[in-house]
Amino acid sequence: MLLDTLRRYFGYDAFRPQQEAIIRHVMAGGDCLVLMPTGGGKSLCYQIPALEMEGTAVVVSPLISLMKDQVEALRANGIAAVALHSALSADELARQRRACAEGRVKLLYLSPETLLSELPYLLRDIRVSLFAVDEAHCVSQWGHDFRPEYTKLGVLRREFPGVPVMALTATADKVTRQDILAQLQLRDPAVFVSSFDRPNLSLDVKRGLKGREKLSALVDFIAQHPGQSGIVYCLARKTTEKLAADLRAKGIEAVPYHAGLGPTERDLAQTDFLRDRVQVVVATIAFGMGIDKSNVRWVVHYNLPKSIESFYQEIGRAGRDGLPSDTLLLYNYSDIVQLTTFARESGQREINLERLSRMQEYAEADVCRRRILLNYFGEVSSHDCGNCDVCHHPPQRFDGTVLAQKALSAIVRTGEQAGFQCVVDILTGRYSPAVREQGYERLRTFGAGRDVPGRDWQDYLLQMLQSGLFSIAYDEHNHLKVTPLGRSVLYGERTFQLAVIRRETPKPKPERSRKKSVPVAPRIPLSEPVADETDKDDLFQHLRALRRRLADAQGLPPYIVLSDKVLRQLALVRPATVEAFGLISGIGEFKQKKYGKLFVDAIKEFRG
Ligand code: ADP
Ligand code: ZN
Repeated sequence: MLLDTLRRYFGYDAFRPQQEAIIRHVMAGGDCLVLMPTGGGKSLCYQIPALEMEGTAVVVSPLISLMKDQVEALRANGIAAVALHSALSADELARQRRACAEGRVKLLYLSPETLLSELPYLLRDIRVSLFAVDEAHCVSQWGHDFRPEYTKLGVLRREFPGVPVMALTATADKVTRQDILAQLQLRDPAVFVSSFDRPNLSLDVKRGLKGREKLSALVDFIAQHPGQSGIVYCLARKTTEKLAADLRAKGIEAVPYHAGLGPTERDLAQTDFLRDRVQVVVATIAFGMGIDKSNVRWVVHYNLPKSIESFYQEIGRAGRDGLPSDTLLLYNYSDIVQLTTFARESGQREINLERLSRMQEYAEADVCRRRILLNYFGEVSSHDCGNCDVCHHPPQRFDGTVLAQKALSAIVRTGEQAGFQCVVDILTGRYSPAVREQGYERLRTFGAGRDVPGRDWQDYLLQMLQSGLFSIAYDEHNHLKVTPLGRSVLYGERTFQLAVIRRETPKPKPERSRKKSVPVAPRIPLSEPVADETDKDDLFQHLRALRRRLADAQGLPPYIVLSDKVLRQLALVRPATVEAFGLISGIGEFKQKKYGKLFVDAIKEFRG
């Protein structure tokens, strides 16, 4: 019976791990906490019970954009859903409240403020089947999404003793988990923890690129994802604006997004992105929780993130539809200095420094990166993933003792009074202003590393820093200080291995991508044989254009009309009848009726 509902409304054939257990638990009246990664399928865990149970399910959500997205997606599947929030007109509000009071609504989305104010009114008038507190980590003061009203939601448990309360989040850490259970006062709650693995996301890290190199690495990366939506995360507001302008100058449609922009500007950027009108958003972490767009095909970090938690949340915005998606982290020495300074000046200095160093360890890793991530979230993985840069190019090492000794010796000879770049200048024998000012050109080590290019020294020094051979004195002008471990290498008591620097030779571009105007579709692993690859991609683009027209006509984001995954399947299977169209995973009865003929005709027309 549950499966029938899943099929009928959502067009899926099976539940994902945990979903069914969660649904049954809630329908039996139990409270629970659901921890699932972004894109894991949390929404179905309350949407199916909402459809199955008598009355209206009340969903608490922290952002209007999230509520709108969910309501649009539900209505697109023919399900009666409503969101009440401050952006509605008085008329609209009255109309929606009436629909709720008359019991015509299966899912009611409310902001926590509206929920609290409606307790004695609307919530008395309707029959509530269940409460779902979405993005439940907002109760926690420790995260950056803290919402004070969330801490008052314990009232639900007290005022509605017979109604199950479920909390859902993608933030997994233990403190947050405890906070949620305590603040929401869940009754004998079951805790469902899903795997946090997102195998469809590729992981790649490039270190040590500076300025122009970084920009061109990004431009190359985007060129390999033509026409595909993506997010670039930066540390500073200024960077987002500069970078968006740089990308536009290269012919890429990019807009900046940060908390310093006006609300209208931010809304516009977000809507244009959701509706596939701009390809790239260059953003600070302010661009986050509200992004439910399922066809974000890639995420790039232009700077090192503050912690593995934020990193994982941010890359998690790619590939929610389960299709392969790419992520890239670019970081260099100045990120480390800047982030360490932030962490040291923050309220929770020790915790933030610890988080940052875990992030650095990830970026510097020479074992499968996914294993590090999963391990960080408390999951043990017994195999390498085969979808990260370390798995693709296992790092090769060589005896770097002599190089390390040169660098350490240079540091010591400055009296440990020089910064990172200055040490590189000394090693390469560059008469930079910093060198001349201190008379470092007279040091014996000046130019001792001339045979190695400066950018390689940058990389080697970064490796030495990460391995703890020297540290940075943040309270002393960021001067480098040799650690006891570094001294033992310097004095020849131990050896030191360096990783061979991997400089990307740009991948040869496939023939097709040179025809500028035809965007290449995402790669997907194919199980069934297909007549012709190119043909399939062209059909995908053809269907994509149709989807875009249908979406624009209804004022909806294209991915709400049909997901990328559905479009891929359509291009692959090429259903010839509306019945066959309805068999595609992700198409329920409503969409079958509404769009079946249009797409079947479009496929016929394409075949000619
Ligand atoms: P979350 O809220 O956990 O980030 P969503 O609920 O938005 O994730 O689900 C992510 C995607 O996975 C959506 O496109 C959803 O339709 C799809 N999905 C969820 N459950 C299933 C399932 N059982 N089978 C196939 N797709 C599913
Ligand atoms: Zn791997």
